[in-house]
Amino acid sequence: MRLVFASNNAGKIREVAKILNECFEEDVTLLSLKDIGFFDDIVEDGNTFEENALIKARTVARLGYLCIADDSGLEVDALGGAPGIYSARYSGGHGNDKENNLLVLKNLEGVPDEKRTARFTCAIACVTPEGEEFTVKASCEGRILHAEEGNGGFGYDPLFYVEEYGKTLASVTAEEKNAISHRGKALRAFVAEYEKRRKQK
Ligand code: IMP
Repeated sequence: MRLVFASNNAGKIREVAKILNECFEEDVTLLSLKDIGFFDDIVEDGNTFEENALIKARTVARLGYLCIADDSGLEVDALGGAPGIYSARYSGGHGNDKENNLLVLKNLEGVPDEKRTARFTCAIACVTPEGEEFTVKASCEGRILHAEEGNGGFGYDPLFYVEEYGKTLASVTAEEKNAISHRGKALRAFVAEYEKRRKQK
């Protein structure tokens, strides 16, 4: 099965390919945007994770590919759900993890542990070349620490403490993260929904 993942993030593509090959009964060849010669910018101007994932997947499916796309971010309860869909550019610059983490910590100054609840959320959209589409969404619950801990992962992982492991997502292995992460859960939900729809045909 050939499937485009609408991203050029090599780390994410590797992670997604691994999970899909574990879940699907058949082998999956996962192609990046670069692999299909797509170099345009896709403007993600939706209001939700699902809308942004759909915008990306539709753009590629229109070119004749079966495509999945994801959109994800951190939602902090004490910040009214921020940074949410703006997670990558919370501090202004695109993808500056250090600055983003510092701003979350600054905005949570004085907020006690029990009110520092948060979740990572991931939406995955799947669109076929025929225009059939669906989305799935999953979350991973945790709490924002008062300082970074751990050197693994990316983004907000060093601040995100999970009860399951008693440490941050930057302090667990890739396998441990995939087992409970928003992206891991959403990908497994995508596979289940895709297989269900295929069997109904
Ligand atoms: P995107 O879905 O790749 O656009 O991710 C949006 C942003 O959300 C990233 O730049 C990170 O700041 C944050 N984010 C999404 N998933 C994770 C994760 O698994 N760990 C840490 N940060 C994440």
